[in-house]
Amino acid sequence: MGELRIQGLMAEVAGRQILNGVDLVVKSGEVHAVMGPNGAGKSTLSHVLMGKPGYTVTGGSVTIDGVDLLSLPTYERAKAGLFLAMQYPVEVPGVSLEELLTEALSAQGRDASVVHATVAGEAERIGLATRLLDRPVNVDLSGGEKKRNETMQLAVLRPKFAILDELDSGLDVDALRACSRRVEAATTEFDLGVLAITHYSRLLEELKPDVVHVLAQGRIVAAGGPELADELERTGYAEWVEEETPATAVADPFADPFADPFA
Ligand code: ADP
Ligand code: MG
Repeated sequence: MGELRIQGLMAEVAGRQILNGVDLVVKSGEVHAVMGPNGAGKSTLSHVLMGKPGYTVTGGSVTIDGVDLLSLPTYERAKAGLFLAMQYPVEVPGVSLEELLTEALSAQGRDASVVHATVAGEAERIGLATRLLDRPVNVDLSGGEKKRNETMQLAVLRPKFAILDELDSGLDVDALRACSRRVEAATTEFDLGVLAITHYSRLLEELKPDVVHVLAQGRIVAAGGPELADELERTGYAEWVEEETPATAVADPFADPFADPFA
């Protein structure tokens, strides 16, 4: 049984503190949804977990099965079993999908001879047209095809933990069902643990969350069962979002500096 453990994670980007102490534990086979308003830090969390340059960790820790991830370069994090399906998948001209997956599996000391057959099988399962498989990674694919492509890579690589950053954005209903079903199946097939960032409970119809978390202003401010996703879709996040304080506002000298802003 594996565990992705995020503790008190704080990070800044472009000189601004975005993550303010994120606590989250995902165990193998579990699905954790992270929902929250625009700009809450959801994508920042995914980038910090994967080690994207430009994001500076200012506190806290992230481990997979006790192994410290934050001291590792991105490729070592991937080798340790972490996978990110990006909100905006990048195009990689000059690198074919099979080359990418072969290198990734070989780097982990795993059998890469099966890549061709596995890719074909998974593409069919996810509904990704075979003619797209010869293209350089994500090049000239539509938004929805890129998301299917990411899901397909996830299925071939079989990581321990996957972060899905708005997998649902850009997907039509059928593609969404195919992708979320594939990920849900992975939670039992190879015990995948999932951190699914989303705005819509639609993703969570097939990908069944064990816990739904609310991320607002760089922290987890609430958590609940699957029903919380539907509730959030109805009620929004007003409860947790403060009006932006004007930069000129003078801090109240008598304010309690340790008060919980979410209380
Ligand atoms: P979410 O995914 O929850 O909508 P993000 O994590 O993308 O939010 O962004 C959180 C905040 O951090 C936003 O105010 C955004 O403008 C800022 N931010 C994120 N990445 C960068 C970056 N690379 N450079 C500057 N600001 C960034
Ligand atoms: Mg985002």
